[in-house]
Amino acid sequence: MSATETGVLVIGGGAAGIAAARAAHEAGATVTLVTLPGGATTQTAGLVWGLSRDVFRQWNDGAFREGGRYVTVGAWMHTTAFAALPSLLDVSSVTGTLAVVDLPTHPSWSARLVANTLGGRVVSAKDLPVSETFREAAVKFDTAGVAEGIAASLKSACEGCAAVLMPPVLGLRHDDVAARMAAVLGLPVGEAVGAVGDPPGVRAARAVRRWLPAAVTVLEGRATVAKGGRATVDVEGVGTVRAKAVVLATGGLAGGGIVFDRALREVTANVPVWTRTRACVSAPSGASRGADPTAWFAEGSPDGVGVRLDASQRVIDADGATAVARWLFAAGDVTVTPAGAGLLDALASGRRAGEAAAREAGGG
Ligand SMILES: Cc1cc2nc3c(=O)[nH]c(=O)nc-3n(C[C@H](O)[C@H](O)[C@H](O)COP(=O)(O)OP(=O)(O)OC[C@H]3O[C@@H](n4cnc5c(N)ncnc54)[C@H](O)[C@@H]3O)c2cc1C
Repeated sequence: MSATETGVLVIGGGAAGIAAARAAHEAGATVTLVTLPGGATTQTAGLVWGLSRDVFRQWNDGAFREGGRYVTVGAWMHTTAFAALPSLLDVSSVTGTLAVVDLPTHPSWSARLVANTLGGRVVSAKDLPVSETFREAAVKFDTAGVAEGIAASLKSACEGCAAVLMPPVLGLRHDDVAARMAAVLGLPVGEAVGAVGDPPGVRAARAVRRWLPAAVTVLEGRATVAKGGRATVDVEGVGTVRAKAVVLATGGLAGGGIVFDRALREVTANVPVWTRTRACVSAPSGASRGADPTAWFAEGSPDGVGVRLDASQRVIDADGATAVARWLFAAGDVTVTPAGAGLLDALASGRRAGEAAAREAGGG
């Protein structure tokens, strides 16, 4: 197996890892990012929330718009997002009747329910793709000319309406399907918010991924931080990577950075895990709670568990004070996060960790 050298090694390619890699690169470090597929960042709804807004505002290149009210497939209204993909229809800007497009084949999209709830009108298009999932339908909307043809067939039914609401199907690969339909109809066109894995979330994750600089080397595989005093990481199928600093951005329970395996454990660096109430669940007293997950999660939501950091973003040990190693930093959902943490907080903590890791790497 070969040994590769890098300045900063980021483990995890979700929002926190991308932010860490970008920040370390911008601070002058040589950066390698190693990741497995999946994670919470790929499961978002196309909406963006959280408290720490600066990094997002700085990096947003038009992929997201700020504010708005959004209809979900269940016909309730999402009002608390800070930002959203522009393809989602912002109903706060619609002053007249909403045309809600029927997609009769999909069981979770009821145009009638949405239209009744919002006082809109159900409209049908010719040649709507017959699909069992929103993803399958979105693939068809990616095909050249399909979205424009459907928009043209909606024209007379949408007469007198102020905007057109589609189910969450406006493209998997292309980001401009809503805009192309709007150009044909001469009306704002947008989609509703879907669920995990639906097309808007796929496009949102891709938009975040575009913030990763091309100069960052990306490896695919499972990383394990080796025991010992040096920052050495084994990457399955790739080999050993030696770094001056490591950022753990492996996600929480959704990302696989934290697992529930008789106890809550951090699996990549094998460092202590804490709850929001500052109980160290890796300590022997915590372990005595046994294998019933509800005993752990009774302290709060499970996404509140993770590794704890000192003021310089270094991972701290079971004594609650000492850094595990000078070179080990962490960010995002693998850390103990405040309630309601979202993409914004993952990005902000990723940037802090990336900058700190670059300082450590620069210090030699
Ligand atoms: C179902 C769901 C829906 C959500 N919806 C929204 C939303 O709509 N809006 C919003 O703002 N927030 C949402 N959130 C919260 C937000 O998605 C997360 O806070 C944020 O994405 C966390 O980013 P992260 O980089 O810390 O973790 P993740 O995105 O989970 O990334 C961790 C990455 O590390 C990889 N990894 C793990 N272990 C290893 C290893 N050993 N070696 C290599 N790679 C590894 C994983 O495969 C993954 O790619 C949602 C969360 C969930 C779970």
